[in-house]
Amino acid sequence: MTNSKNLNFRNRFTELGPEFYQAKSPDPVTDPYLIDFSPSAAQLIDLAPDEEENKDFLDRFSGNCPLEGAQPLAMAYSGHQFGSYNPRLGDGRGLLLGEVQNQKQEIWDIHLKGAGPTRFARGFDGRATLQSSIREHLASEALNGLGIPTTRSLAIIGIRELIYRQRPELAAILVRLADSHIRFGSFEFFHYTGQAQNVKRLLEFAIESYYPDIAQESDRYRIFFQRTVQRTAKLIAKWQSVGFIHGVMNTDNMCITGTTFDYGPYGFMDRFVASHTPNHSDTHGRYAYSQQSEIGFWNLNKLAETLVPLVGAENLEEEMKQYQPTFNRFYREEMGDKLGLAILDSEFTQLVQKMFHLLQDLQLDYTNFFRFLADYPGTSRSQNNELRSWLNQYLELAKREGISQEERKVEMDSVNPKFILRNHLIQSALDKALKESDFSEIKRLRIILENPYQTQPEIFEKFRIDAEYYSQDTPESFLSQQTSCSA
Ligand code: AMP
Ligand code: MG
Repeated sequence: MTNSKNLNFRNRFTELGPEFYQAKSPDPVTDPYLIDFSPSAAQLIDLAPDEEENKDFLDRFSGNCPLEGAQPLAMAYSGHQFGSYNPRLGDGRGLLLGEVQNQKQEIWDIHLKGAGPTRFARGFDGRATLQSSIREHLASEALNGLGIPTTRSLAIIGIRELIYRQRPELAAILVRLADSHIRFGSFEFFHYTGQAQNVKRLLEFAIESYYPDIAQESDRYRIFFQRTVQRTAKLIAKWQSVGFIHGVMNTDNMCITGTTFDYGPYGFMDRFVASHTPNHSDTHGRYAYSQQSEIGFWNLNKLAETLVPLVGAENLEEEMKQYQPTFNRFYREEMGDKLGLAILDSEFTQLVQKMFHLLQDLQLDYTNFFRFLADYPGTSRSQNNELRSWLNQYLELAKREGISQEERKVEMDSVNPKFILRNHLIQSALDKALKESDFSEIKRLRIILENPYQTQPEIFEKFRIDAEYYSQDTPESFLSQQTSCSA
């Protein structure tokens, strides 16, 4: 364990050269204060779990005091937003402080989001709202709890500055940790500005950093793309499985390591509506739940276009052909696990298809349905005929597995979360924070969502809070909520 003064920085990205970034330090802030700190994220960079109490922690991570060894920079990238190419993106308010190597030899990027305007800011203020920082913090830690690859959130640091969106808002800095900050859009930037040599450099850098095992292979560029396809397919299958909707799958928000990246107007499926999008600006539902796997394919195609000179169009096409079957395979396995079924035959496929019709027709809560199923037939609830007949069919297939109901329950409960980041839970954490400067609900939620598959009675006892409130179906007034990009 160490403290934030002794982080082991190994800044590889700076070596790529000035076309790749703007070197820039965070803007100083007055009187930064801690909103929340994640000890489990701290562990990733060998920071002590109580590092937040270090008197210099806030100054170091808000930009007031330089971190020894850090070489902060804003990365250049572009990307496709809602299907159209935007040549001018880049870290307008984010800074990569540097890469830290931990004792396990893993390398983690430390990134500040909301650290002041950079040359990519396009006239925006370079800051992030406290609200959006809380939303990203909770979602990062929640997805990690669910076992889904994601950027992490070490801390939210409040800054005493009002920023203007639709109205004046409180601002904050999010301290993000990630295995990579290279986006599909990073490749697009160099491709569309005619810098073929830098596409190649970035690709070599990515291979060296993330896939050293293939560094000597002659077809490593192709293998890199193949792995990106696989990881993206796997990630989206996992999102679908827990009902996570990213909400803004632009190519600049797609990380090449298949990590959930850049949380904006995300959401979790509550009452099942396949066409739901949590993004208020997404009027055509481009990034709706039901579209995510297809958008993954679309985005990978955009990445592929940048690699044509290096990998060859035919090879890339071959790899792209693997996307859908790979996604289907992962998704099928996820669904099998959720249902406690290992025999994934045509009867299983039919059962799953019917299940989604029922979920949608009966407007069932997606998450709680699987917890109910794990207990079935031990518990009953009012059922209509269609559901009853489906449940009978389900039990038939469960019987074929040759495991006891108790075993099935244990297996199912270990993959079907009891707790997800529901809108009413986020809202209450936001209300307390924004209206009363009370950040305790953010902390409680983070802790509960660290172990979303477990009932955790001790936590509820400790905090004297009602477990039912955290696991119940989302209340009517919070269903299918949408958030705007700046919120
Ligand atoms: P995001 O919506 O966070 O994925 O950001 C999309 C693009 O807008 C990125 O290039 C960001 O750096 C930039 N951006 C968003 N908000 C701000 C801001 N307040 N100041 C500067 N740049 C911003
Ligand atoms: Mg983004």
